[in-house]
Amino acid sequence: MRGPQEHAVASPASAAPVVPYIDLRRINAPLVDGIGAALARAMGHGRFLGGEEVEDFERAFADYCGAAESVGVACGLDALRFALIGAGIEPGDEVIVPANTFVDMMEAVVQAGATPRLADVSERDYNIDPAHAAALVSRRTRAIVAVHLYGQMADMDALSRIARRHDLALIEDAAQAHGADRAGRRAGAASQAAAFSFYPTKNLGAMGDAGAVVTSSPSLAATARMLRDHGQRAKHQHVVRGWTSRLDTFQAVVLLQRLPWLDEHNAQRRLIARWYASALDGLGDLVLPPVAPGSRPVWHVYPVATADPAALGRHLSARGVETSRHYPVPVHLSEGWRDLRPPPGALPVTERLASRLLSLPCFPGMTEGELERVAAAIRSYFDG
Ligand SMILES: *Cc1c(COP(=O)(O)O)cnc(C)c1O
Repeated sequence: MRGPQEHAVASPASAAPVVPYIDLRRINAPLVDGIGAALARAMGHGRFLGGEEVEDFERAFADYCGAAESVGVACGLDALRFALIGAGIEPGDEVIVPANTFVDMMEAVVQAGATPRLADVSERDYNIDPAHAAALVSRRTRAIVAVHLYGQMADMDALSRIARRHDLALIEDAAQAHGADRAGRRAGAASQAAAFSFYPTKNLGAMGDAGAVVTSSPSLAATARMLRDHGQRAKHQHVVRGWTSRLDTFQAVVLLQRLPWLDEHNAQRRLIARWYASALDGLGDLVLPPVAPGSRPVWHVYPVATADPAALGRHLSARGVETSRHYPVPVHLSEGWRDLRPPPGALPVTERLASRLLSLPCFPGMTEGELERVAAAIRSYFDG
């Protein structure tokens, strides 16, 4: 299972990889019976959008994040757009976003009618650099979006100070950080509103597209509820212009079954990250992902940096190890986003990371033998 944002380095056509980049079958195997029974119950009551399962999941996920409300929607992009509109972003506004991120972020900003301003990221955590974000604040700036990339939260303390000083909204893109925390704050409850994606490969994944807006603001939650359902406050009361973006009951069923496993799955990802950190330390020019003080990432992605990640990826592929890249072409250098292009050299860290990062397999259920195999293949690349 591979999403549009996963640029996998393919294994030889003949053989399946010995170590896959991710294996959702292992994650879902213990859940199949429970999910099947719950789906059968949903087919029995016949409500396929909304209903008890959606409300139960919304309640459970808000509690998990430590926020007052969560609003289930159709995907992460919709959650981001609704969070921005709910926070008051309007056409003509500027929104500061990190340049090293998935394209959803920029899409959500322009779909809300605003203009993204790209801040560089920091070598300390690969997330938005608060100093660069502060330098981009203009008269038109209305919000900063922190993307908790690779499973590590951005520096929300520093970003909150900037947002407060300039009276800006602060929004989280927590699509890669379900369960992460940093300096006593938890992803989803560290800003006015957070957007989550439950794309199948995320740390909490559905079996199709799904997302949620998480917030402790009753008015923002109410706006998100209207935006996901044709702008309706109640049936036939279309008080704003909305979208069709409800959370399917079936996806809520899957998410309700998977949520109790999330902490265990994140713990396994942390063990894998610790294992890699000791097994790969000091190899060639390899740079392991940085962890900021007080930060507990959930390792949605385990990115290592090296001078030629494509060559390392090919070397691993030839040895049966599948890898991925996040993200080899920064959004501002992508064909569809030419108009965003900042002056050359404005985003040095983002461009350096794009040319250097390779994502290693890191998923719940990965075995010690598979980890050994990945590490041995990387060692042979640098010792070769
Ligand atoms: C997955 C992801 C999203 C949202 O993805 P959807 O496909 O819209 O659900 C947004 N931002 C980041 C950083 C992501 O990884």
